[in-house]
Amino acid sequence: MTDAPTTSLATVYGYPRQGPDRELKRAIEGYWSGRVTADELRATAERLRRDIWRQLADAGIGEVPCGDFSLYDHVLDTTVMVGAIPERHRAAVAADPLDGYFAMARGTQDVAPLEMTKWFDTNYHYLVPELGPDTAFTADPAKPLAELYEALALGHNPRPVLVGPVTYLLLAKPAPGVAADFEPLTLLDRLLPVYADVLAALRAAGAEWVQLDEPALVQDRPQAVLDAVAAAYRELGSLSHRPKILVAGYFDRLGEALPVLAQAPIEGLGLDFTGPAAANLDALAQVGGVPGKRLVAGVVDGRNIWINNLEKSLSTLATLLGLAGQVDVAASCSLLHVPLDSAAETEIDPEIAPWLAFARQKIAEIVTLTRGLTRGTRVIADDLADNRAALESRANSTLTRDPAVRARAAAVTPQDAWRGQAYPERARAQRARLELPLVPTTTIGSFPQTVELRTARADLLAGRVDQDAYDERIAAEIREVLAFQEKAGLDVLVHGEPERNDMVQYFAEQLDGYIATRHGWVQSYGTRYVRPPILAGDISRPEPMTLRWTRYAQSQTSRPVKGMLTGPVTMLAWSFVRDDQPLGETARQVALALRDEVADLEEAGVAVIQVDEPALRETLPLRATDRPAYLAWATEAFRLTTAGVRPETQIHTHMCYAEFGEILAAIEELDADVISLEAARSHMQVAHELAEAGYPREVGPGVYDIHSPRVPGIEELASLLRKGLEAIPADRLWANPDCGLKTRGWAEVRSSLENLVAAAREIRAEVANQPLA
Ligand code: GLN
Ligand code: ZN
Repeated sequence: MTDAPTTSLATVYGYPRQGPDRELKRAIEGYWSGRVTADELRATAERLRRDIWRQLADAGIGEVPCGDFSLYDHVLDTTVMVGAIPERHRAAVAADPLDGYFAMARGTQDVAPLEMTKWFDTNYHYLVPELGPDTAFTADPAKPLAELYEALALGHNPRPVLVGPVTYLLLAKPAPGVAADFEPLTLLDRLLPVYADVLAALRAAGAEWVQLDEPALVQDRPQAVLDAVAAAYRELGSLSHRPKILVAGYFDRLGEALPVLAQAPIEGLGLDFTGPAAANLDALAQVGGVPGKRLVAGVVDGRNIWINNLEKSLSTLATLLGLAGQVDVAASCSLLHVPLDSAAETEIDPEIAPWLAFARQKIAEIVTLTRGLTRGTRVIADDLADNRAALESRANSTLTRDPAVRARAAAVTPQDAWRGQAYPERARAQRARLELPLVPTTTIGSFPQTVELRTARADLLAGRVDQDAYDERIAAEIREVLAFQEKAGLDVLVHGEPERNDMVQYFAEQLDGYIATRHGWVQSYGTRYVRPPILAGDISRPEPMTLRWTRYAQSQTSRPVKGMLTGPVTMLAWSFVRDDQPLGETARQVALALRDEVADLEEAGVAVIQVDEPALRETLPLRATDRPAYLAWATEAFRLTTAGVRPETQIHTHMCYAEFGEILAAIEELDADVISLEAARSHMQVAHELAEAGYPREVGPGVYDIHSPRVPGIEELASLLRKGLEAIPADRLWANPDCGLKTRGWAEVRSSLENLVAAAREIRAEVANQPLA
């Protein structure tokens, strides 16, 4: 082995961009609306970067990241850096780079934006590069250079952080008009010279190191991709004018990409050692370590909000010392995915506060670990004692150990998670009870969340109206939504969800064991920030959560009203989850609480209950080998939520995406009676996929694309339904929109749903007139 390291540095890959009061959001939105000038926006951004660097450096971060800051998205910044501006945006970018940048992000009246999609399995969304065989890359290092100069001028030791070339290409998709099977990775040879130019420019400007992020390599990749990685870093490594290169892989283990990167002629490797990525430790030992190289050890979880186990991390770091030339301490990934500062949460229970580490607290943990590593654990004895006490308090708290919840979860039997009757028997009972026509019409749950509704909620929070007045407002909205649906002729009605701010938060606020933050904002995309609730303890339901409004709605109409719940998997996916027990355990607790809600709804006479699981696919583990275990607990949690009902109670579920090839079997395992899915854009392809897989139950492939303000015509809807009928028989097909209507306006919703009902009637008449086969 190599000599013991003389020094270890504390560092991070990136920091939340928004500023302590979301100043960046305000400045950008102000710029869009004309209240803030471009210079003012740039000044705000520069000040925020300066504050971040100062805060990091003051806390003891020896090497600060730069270039991770963004006015919208770091993948879009990379698109600009490599000159891959889509054809349709070139004129705007040439006329004004800033406005052109925002046009790519958000579109304009005439030009569509880039598509947006999830950044790996986080809740951050990036703008998808659009590439084709004609894409010509050109280096535009202005942004990384400017931020490097800024940091250097302020006296920092900055390390530019860029999206790596392989990940950039793997995240891209074929540009409009390019063959769908075009593989952007084939452009690697063309892209590398551009990265070479950027690296040379950064070196000339004084960068000693550069970080290239390659998180795409923590997913299963074929040999061809691994070969491309080897070739790429052989080429970049052989450049004569470049900074030292650190390649970082995070969000999971590097697997077969680890030996490739370990052998590449680069100077440093950044590895994740949290969660399933802890497997990197053994894997690194197996390849003989990276002697002589710099290893940045991501031992602090960069995407969850719990304090680190410092002793455990120190032991990982100690092992790593023998496996690399230098071991530095970092968070597993950019801190972009956690809120800024838990000290701002003054209303959080003082028992819980010491368990939490947001970005600022994680910085302190990284610095403490670095001190412990370089100067011995004696110098951090106080920190270790505090950390041990906090971990013990969390492990022994009544919040995390509710005996009643635990006993109930432990007593769950496999039968609890299966309905007592097979689908055909249930279907008969439900048909007899509901007496629905063929191809029944329904919606996914929410109706337009109007400005008045949002104002009413804000008024209630601010104390401008009292609870009774607010409740009357909600009741009036429900009556209106129901009256419209009856008049339009829909078959299974909804109450419209006017009382819900958000489909997860609404339930989190009512469940014990969940906590909310006041300032825990995390970037979802662009200037959109969310405040995920925290699954902090054992979960229970002190009182019914949806019963009152569902019952009220049902009392207003003789048609069936669907009860509407958010499923356990989605509750976990859009919250910060516990890291002190398996996810399946948390999901089971949430499922049991929801199961009681389902029982209460059924008891109140609700005949149709929908449990939404839009996140089922997005939390699919990045590595295929981890997926069966995830799908097993996820589908069990859904069934545990729904399986307690009588045969004549109809269970619906909803998912809002069309590519579910990988989870087809899991959808079947949910054992729901009816599933509604997104399908309008893919021309009902999902209906065919389901049919081919032999899906035996009822399906509502969405025929109305709610992501667009467009009103679909009757004939268009009818022809989509006919396509659906090619795959699904008429007695198992539903007619519904793709997703909830909360983001749409009333005018479009009215016409679209009237057309939907008319189209379904047309189809019913056609089916009735068909000669029997
Ligand atoms: N029931 C929810 C709604 O209609 C479902 C939202 C979703 O699928 N994301 O708004
Ligand atoms: Zn949806």
